[in-house]
Amino acid sequence: MNEPLPFKTDVPLASYCTYGIGGPAAHLLEIHTIEEMQQAFLYCQKHNLRALIIGKGSNCLFDDQGFNGAVLINKIDFHETPSPGIFRVGAGYSFSLLGAQTARQGWAGLEFASGIPGSVGGAVFMNAGAGGGETATQLQSVEFVSLNGEKRTFSKEELSFSYRKSSFQTMQGAIVAATFALTKDPQARQRQLEIIAKRTASQPYSAKSAGCVFVNPTNGAAGALIDKCGLKGMKVGGAEVSAVHANFLINAGQATARDMLALIERVQAHVKDTTGIELHPEIRLIPYE
Ligand SMILES: Cc1cc2nc3c(=O)[nH]c(=O)nc-3n(C[C@H](O)[C@H](O)[C@H](O)COP(=O)(O)OP(=O)(O)OC[C@H]3O[C@@H](n4cnc5c(N)ncnc54)[C@H](O)[C@@H]3O)c2cc1C
Repeated sequence: MNEPLPFKTDVPLASYCTYGIGGPAAHLLEIHTIEEMQQAFLYCQKHNLRALIIGKGSNCLFDDQGFNGAVLINKIDFHETPSPGIFRVGAGYSFSLLGAQTARQGWAGLEFASGIPGSVGGAVFMNAGAGGGETATQLQSVEFVSLNGEKRTFSKEELSFSYRKSSFQTMQGAIVAATFALTKDPQARQRQLEIIAKRTASQPYSAKSAGCVFVNPTNGAAGALIDKCGLKGMKVGGAEVSAVHANFLINAGQATARDMLALIERVQAHVKDTTGIELHPEIRLIPYE
């Protein structure tokens, strides 16, 4: 414990997120086991480093200056089935793969995850969802390591979840594993295939993005509001409102975080002026300090 860990220094965060945007992380380490996460936290504590845990970086906008601390990339990706219908997976496991694999085996509940390009940890943290499904519904428990290295298992009842919100957004530490309870349903695979087909037809899937930028306001879809305001195609530098889905603000070239933040503000201002509705970001804006 407290031995030097193989942190890399000055690593561009653009390579660790789907936006392809972001300056260097002062320190960066890929974590493969729960024990490594515990050691990394103790190391950060000892060296007074601020820790940021990232999964697949599919819901993050990093700062152009980067991150002045230690970025821990969660690659804890074990996968086990302790009993039929119960799936315990490392938080770095692909959420999309989990959705497709379980549906293919005839288990229902995570079909909606297919095509969400995040990790299981990121999905729990964000309570990711689509088409009426959300991560918390099938969750049984979550294993969590706090900044002092202690590991604890939370049952779902001890946690709170709502639309794109979870208790973890106000907690300090890392989700390291999650257990889901699914039910047998021979229609699961067919539903999952329909979900992925709908997703690829309605979203700019190959563009650099972080998915929907704004949470949906009550009684409406943010994308439909932005579209109604005629903002598809609006640009700031390399950042652009997608012509395919207006809630996707994409990196259409060499966008910087500054471009993206300016575009977000312009869209918010237009929608507020035109409809009176305030849009709030769903994506996580990660500051340098
Ligand atoms: C093309 C595209 C389509 C998308 N479609 C959807 C969709 O349909 N529905 C939806 O909800 N989202 C969607 N997203 C957004 C994104 O994929 C989800 O929010 C996903 O759950 C984020 O997971 P991640 O591992 O990439 O998280 P990251 O982007 O790496 O992190 C997001 C936040 O979670 C925190 N975090 C991540 N892992 C951990 C951990 N192990 N412990 C503690 N904190 C952690 C990070 O610090 C950060 O604050 C889409 C994104 C893209 C690019």
